[in-house]
Amino acid sequence: MSDELATKVAIVTGASSGIGEATGRALARAGAKVVLTARRGERLDALAADIHTAGGEALALPADIANRDAVRTVVDTTVDTYGRVDILVNNAGIMPLSPMSKCQVDEWDRMIDVNIKGLLYGVAAVLPAMLAQGTGHIVNVSSVAGRRPFPGGTVYAATKFAVRCISAGLRLELSPTDKIRVTDIAPGVVETELQDSIADTEVRERFQTNWADKTPLTPDDVARAVLYVVTQADRVNVNEILVRPTDQPT
Ligand code: NDP
Repeated sequence: MSDELATKVAIVTGASSGIGEATGRALARAGAKVVLTARRGERLDALAADIHTAGGEALALPADIANRDAVRTVVDTTVDTYGRVDILVNNAGIMPLSPMSKCQVDEWDRMIDVNIKGLLYGVAAVLPAMLAQGTGHIVNVSSVAGRRPFPGGTVYAATKFAVRCISAGLRLELSPTDKIRVTDIAPGVVETELQDSIADTEVRERFQTNWADKTPLTPDDVARAVLYVVTQADRVNVNEILVRPTDQPT
């Protein structure tokens, strides 16, 4: 445990696995009070228990990020419990890849609901508290796919292009005037449960074949990037981090 973030309260979305879980642990180790949210409450409870055992402070608040009222309740409960919210790590996301030709409109809807609208619900829920405090930091997890589409990933990439655009616009509107810092973190391939959301067997197998002899990032690698940006001095606004596995060509 360190006390680098001892005065800070952080909310991490998508904290039940992968990057969000690793980020929750990393922020708690750095001394932040961490609010963990995702749908799988039992996973959040287990993570919060681990953090408490290690001497940290965490609160598990299950919610569906696509439900605007549920997201607001998470933030309201955070402020009621800890008095403030300093950091939002907007990380929850899904990646049900498929070729455009298959017209999986339900999957497109779901990605837009979670990856874009859910992220915006997080922003809308924390901004009033951050504006009132005169300080805050929003960290949005986009993707290398937010810079270029790939076959089978057109709509997923579109959601991540949107995240990057939202990050840039938030910074422009809120950093110079309201002291709210904004960071867009764009990872390449990370070993997590994200691929489990790919229902299309052809795309999933192609993905797995491409990565059979390569080493992806670990969730911890990305959590370290989050920790780096939120531990800078108030004057330092790290706006973008792009972190690829050394083995990733594009
Ligand atoms: P995981 O599948 O391990 O984690 C995704 C998290 O999002 C889970 O905690 C999941 O929790 C949560 N989530 C999904 N749907 C919802 C929902 N409706 N409401 C609330 N929470 C939800 O994958 P990653 O850790 O890899 O993904 C985290 C982020 O990183 C995503 O935004 C992803 O797009 C991005 N990313 C991942 C890369 C990779 O290669 N893995 C590369 C680039 C970016 P639960 O199911 O319990 O609700």
